[in-house]
Amino acid sequence: MRRFQHLIGGQFEDGAESFASINPATGAAWALMPRAGAADVDRAVTAAHRALNDQAWRGLTATQRGKLLYRLADLVAENAQALAELETADTGKIIRETSAQIAYVAEYYRYFAGLADKLQGAHLPIDKPGMDVWLRREPIGVVAAVVPWNSQLFLSAVKLGPALAAGCTVVLKASEDGPAPLLEFARLVQQAGFPPGVVNVITGFGPDCGQVLTSHPLVARIAFTGGPGTARHVMRNAAENLAHVTLELGGKSPVVVFEDADLGSTANAVVAGIFAATGQSCVAGSRLIVQHAIKDALLAALKAKAEAIVIGAPQERATEMGPLATQRQRNHIEKVVTESLSAGARLVTGGSAPQGMQGFYYRPTILDCSGTEAQAISTELFGPVLAVLGFETEDDAVRLANATPYGLAAGVFTRNLARAHRLTRDIRAGVVWINTYRAVSPMAPFGGFGLSGSGREGGLESVLDYTRAKTVWLRTSDDPIPDPFVMR
Ligand code: NDP
Repeated sequence: MRRFQHLIGGQFEDGAESFASINPATGAAWALMPRAGAADVDRAVTAAHRALNDQAWRGLTATQRGKLLYRLADLVAENAQALAELETADTGKIIRETSAQIAYVAEYYRYFAGLADKLQGAHLPIDKPGMDVWLRREPIGVVAAVVPWNSQLFLSAVKLGPALAAGCTVVLKASEDGPAPLLEFARLVQQAGFPPGVVNVITGFGPDCGQVLTSHPLVARIAFTGGPGTARHVMRNAAENLAHVTLELGGKSPVVVFEDADLGSTANAVVAGIFAATGQSCVAGSRLIVQHAIKDALLAALKAKAEAIVIGAPQERATEMGPLATQRQRNHIEKVVTESLSAGARLVTGGSAPQGMQGFYYRPTILDCSGTEAQAISTELFGPVLAVLGFETEDDAVRLANATPYGLAAGVFTRNLARAHRLTRDIRAGVVWINTYRAVSPMAPFGGFGLSGSGREGGLESVLDYTRAKTVWLRTSDDPIPDPFVMR
């Protein structure tokens, strides 16, 4: 079995213990992962804290920090295929998706590399004579970056990129499920030449690794991606030290389709929105809200497309949908689909595991949930299950779209531009896509409303989020400071 190691303080090392990682396509253990305990976490945070104040990092100019990030971007691009193969082996995500996504991850590092020396303070036009006042931007401190198992390289790039551009140091915790690509990425960090301790990469279980990390008194900033339940723990952990927290959480994102939408394009976008990554995407368009006039036609098109999807081994280029990442995930999906069918949902297609396949596979599933309160409408499944609801009027569409405590993303399909603008305004979500779905870019801020979290990743402002402002007052007068107790 292949063995992976942590990167702590510039050294590769085994964890206090280790655990086996499962290949979701076979259900068999394929690699041994280090398991960080409290002492490992503490050493990683201490190393990051030391590096923060060490001249080897602190003494670099912003341009030099940017150059290190450019070098890292080049290494990610050069090693994209190898990283993609690891992510596919460890998470079951298909190779077509992992290779395309990781090649794009390099662009995220390039974007943040370019921002490193564009970060500026400000000179303030203060309302006091004889004073010069300015604002310095300083790195916020040690960052704890915690990511879930899906798209770990991508989700860590939107944390590491701005954190390093701003001059912070980082302890990155990979999920216990599928940590291989991030532990391998640590080797590229080392090769890029970051000073020891600037980036530390560990993995381990929630309670003895994630919790210890997000409670650590030397952590100033937590960038968390995961589910709302864990996020509540993280907020509580951070409360003790009042660390700054941003949360990228789950979703139950609506895709609203009006009768004037282009049927073929919309069907493709809906399929990509829910079945790409086997539905294991935070922005999965898992609720289709479709106007009655085209509901049957759209469902027929979606059924045909869903049934044509090639399910298979994730490492095969021909495969269009792979397994779920864990057995736990598949069990959860099976349970909610069964409950939804008993609650009156109509099975359009799917609803079971494909016959005769090892591993955690589940067929692309469409449930018409109109007129029911099926759990599939409200529960984030993180799997290939589309819940369908019909609507008559624009008001109904908005009401259904907003009938969720989440607010991560939404899609609107219509040729009516004025209507598209109205929905953009009225739908409660951090990202709204009109006549497209699932597009992302390093330049475009990303994040949610409500239970989908707070804070934004990507875009110029995300770098500021890794800085703290320091206001400096300088008295410019040479006159002595008057006695404060002598009134004039
Ligand atoms: P979890 O919330 O279970 O886990 C996320 C991370 O938190 C993992 O690294 C996990 O470690 C760690 N963790 C677990 N317990 C604690 C704790 N007590 N303190 C600190 N960290 C802890 O999420 P899932 O792995 O189930 O991922 C799926 C979720 O992530 C979905 O809700 C999905 O929508 C969301 N997500 C959001 C995205 C966004 O950008 N908005 C993007 C991608 C996913 P361990 O794995 O060891 O348990």
